[in-house]
Formats: sequence, structure tokens, C-alpha cells
Amino acid sequence: MKVAKPHVAVLPNMGLGHLIPHLELAKRLVVHHGFHVSFLVITTNEPSAAQDRLLCSPHLPPDLHIVRLPPVDVDKIILDNDDVLVLTRLCLITSESFRSLKSVLIDIGKPKALVTDLFATQAFDVCKELSIPAYLYSTTSAAFNAFMLYLPKLDSEVKCEFIDLPEPIQVPGCSPIRTEDLLDELRNRKIDDYKWFLYHVSRLPLASAIFINSWEDLEPMTIKSIKENPLFKQIPLPIPPVYPIGPLIRQEETLSSTTDLECLEWLDKQPPDSVLFLIFGSGGTLSFEQQTELALGLELSQQRFIWAVRKPTDTAGAGAFFHAGEVNENDPNVYLPQGFLKRTHGVGLVVSSWAPQVSVLGHPSTGGFLSHCGWNSVLESIVHGVPMIAWPLYAEQRMNATWLTEDFGIAVKPKMEAGETVIRREEIERVVRMVMEGEEGKVMRSRVKELKESAAKALESESCSYASLSGVVNHWKTALN
Ligand code: UDP
Repeated sequence: MKVAKPHVAVLPNMGLGHLIPHLELAKRLVVHHGFHVSFLVITTNEPSAAQDRLLCSPHLPPDLHIVRLPPVDVDKIILDNDDVLVLTRLCLITSESFRSLKSVLIDIGKPKALVTDLFATQAFDVCKELSIPAYLYSTTSAAFNAFMLYLPKLDSEVKCEFIDLPEPIQVPGCSPIRTEDLLDELRNRKIDDYKWFLYHVSRLPLASAIFINSWEDLEPMTIKSIKENPLFKQIPLPIPPVYPIGPLIRQEETLSSTTDLECLEWLDKQPPDSVLFLIFGSGGTLSFEQQTELALGLELSQQRFIWAVRKPTDTAGAGAFFHAGEVNENDPNVYLPQGFLKRTHGVGLVVSSWAPQVSVLGHPSTGGFLSHCGWNSVLESIVHGVPMIAWPLYAEQRMNATWLTEDFGIAVKPKMEAGETVIRREEIERVVRMVMEGEEGKVMRSRVKELKESAAKALESESCSYASLSGVVNHWKTALN
């Protein structure tokens, strides 16, 4: 008789930077641990080509079933209100989508456990109703997780705005956090984005356990501190077990578009470690002025590059977040400096749609990565041993950038001169040369290669991250039968 595989559900929030690592976790549960996984997807009336590309990948194993929740009509939720900020928008869509969650979970046969995401903790309430144990997969660093777990305590103790604190913020096990590195959601405690952020992080202790996308060797002090420091036991609820299970990144991606083939064929013709890859995640955009300076700095550096460029927005930030990966209807010629494409022809390649990031970073010709420091991008860079230029834009990226430069020593951060609103071309030229051909670049490259080895080891059978995940899933297999 064929024994049914244990069934669990995985439910990311709708950001692509969240969907990707959740999909990797789901694949692991199927391939390495013999589960049947229902992968629940929040959908809206605004289709996403990038999401479809990931969910229709032929690399998904047969026991991973994609289940789309009924689409949310975004216009009805947001009511054309342009003032609704990114996190609030995301949380409102999620709440609306989860109206159907209970019936979907019953329809798919009540999974034995549900793994959900930060900014989707509304799912805990539905799980409680159905007596399904709920786990949280927080797809960022251990340090940022420590910060989030600690935030309710800071919220109750700090009376002023965090950005007005005279000293950096001390979180046990983390380097002091400079207030200028705080994410936008935390810069004004009166706005809805802050309230949503606090709501979700205050609910982290309700999870049966928290998985994080990091590993013991990368952040030993922080992970030890989250697990052992008594200060983490008092905020205000005790913290559930925390398991580092990373780095979970895509091992392969479907290469089908013209852009994919163009990038890889072009890279094949370049010398080893000679190409700088520039991309600002799934949603990052620059202002027109900043994009112009970046182009001109790149040109001055005379280094080879692939640049996945986006149409600039009025201000820098997460301008393309909700249309991530859509093909740019505009010709980059219109918004890059006049003659740039012509002058850099042969030295650089500019693409304006979804780029095959993992394959580019894994290509031997790629020698540097100018990144917005989203945590998936950071992990992908480390796993492929590529040093970085840290150019944070939104979310926790400013903190990541500081940790990458000051704690890990694998990145350099360009400086903005006092009184300026953009980083100037000369500074961009300097950091690009530094990473691609300078002595500092060599040191960063050798350091990131060490981390690359430690990342590979963490996932080997019996080693730390593999063992962490195995421990929990074995518990699911036995205790939840
Ligand atoms: N990504 C990609 N091609 C693109 C843009 C993004 O493959 O053109 C992938 C990238 O490899 C990473 C994810 O999208 O896995 C972005 O996640 P990250 O945490 O770096 O940033 P976010 O988009 O969440 O800000």
C-alpha cells in the first residue's frame, strides 16, 4: 500500500523577495524530506510576469502544488489612495486575501503545519482556528531578526522617535545600529507603516518556531544571542525556538527569455571576474539624476558591466515594487544619458527586463555586484563568491549594507557628499575601480570566497542548517501524524 506523504503548506507574502526563498524552502521539503507541499500564493487583479515565471518553472518538483488564493481587487482595497505606503498596501492586500484562507486550507485537506512569512502573520489566527501549528520563515539575516524580535521592547521603552535617539540602538548580539540606517517604516512612529511593522513583529512569538535564512558561521554571535541571551526571554512574550536554515537561494533558474540568453552569451565572451553586475532587486528604482550619475560613473570607470536598468522614479526607493519584473515599455535610451549606450557598446550590456540574476552571479566572468542589498541578493552574492558595492534603497537594506561593509568585509559603500542628494559619478568610478581592480577588491574577494565555502558547508547533510531543518521536519513527520 502506498503511504501518503506528510502534507504541509507554505504561504509567503506577495513580495518577490519573499516568494523566492519560500519556494526554495518548499522545494527542499519535497526533495530532501519527502513532503507534499501546498504552496499558497496571494494574487491580485494585477498579474505579475515575474511571479508567473517563478511559479511555472519546470524546476518545481511534482509534489509541490501551487495553490493560488482568489485574487484581491487592489483598487477596491487601496481606493486610489496614492498616500498608502508600500508596507501598509502589502498588509491590506494580505488581510483581504486571507478572508479565503480558512476555506482554502480546509479544501486542500488541512495540512499538518503551515509555514508563513513576516507581514503575513494574520495567518496565525486562521491556523489557530483550525488547530494547525504555524511556523514563521523570516527570510532576512539573523541580525535583522534579532532587531525585529527586540523592537516591541524598544517600542515600550523609547519615548521619542527612534531617529532622534542620540546614540546607536543596542540590540543584544548585534553591532550597534545607527539610527540613520533604520528602515523608512521606523522613522515615524505615527504612520500606518510603523503600526503594521510593530503589529507583525510583536506576533513573531506566536509562531511554533522561526526559521531564518542565515547560518551559524555567518552570524555566530547574533544567533547565539537570540538563542541564549536572557534579554530575549523578556520581550514581552518568550521567543520560540529559532532555526537558521540558510542560505536557501535558487540553485538554478529557467533561462528562456531573450534577455537571459543575451546576458549569458555576452558573459561567455568576457574574461574571468571582469564584469560588474548592477541591479536593484525586484523593485528598486533610482531618481533620474542618480541614474544619470551612475551611468556616467560607470562609463568613467571603464569596467565591463551588465546593468539591469529600470525607468527612474521621482525619488529613489521601491518605485517598482508592485510591478516587479515587468518588461519596461520604455526604451532605456530615453532615460539614460545621451549617447551612453553607444559609447559603452561592447564594454557593457544594458537590459531592461527581469534579469537572470542567479545565473549571472554564478558565471565565472562576473567579478563584482552593485546591489541594493536585499537579503536574497546578499546571499546569492556570497554563495557565488562575488564582492559587492552596497547601494541600499529601502526596507532593511541600509542595515544590511553596514553589516556587509563593517562586519563581513565583503562590500564597499559609496559615499554621498554632505549637502548632496545623489552620489556623484567620481565616487561611483572610485568604488567600481576599487572592487573590480583595486587591492581592497582583492581582499573582499578572498573574504567572500571564504564565506562561500562556509555557505556550502552549512547545507551539507548533517551540518548546521541542514540539521536545523531536519530536526523540525522530523518532528512534523512523527508528532503530527
Ligand atoms: N531577481 C532576479 N532578476 C531580476 C530582479 C530580481 O532574478 O531582474 C531576483 C534576485 O535574484 C533575488 C530576488 O529577485 O532572488 C530579489 O530579492 P532581494 O531580497 O534581493 O530584494 P527585493 O526584491 O526583495 O528587494
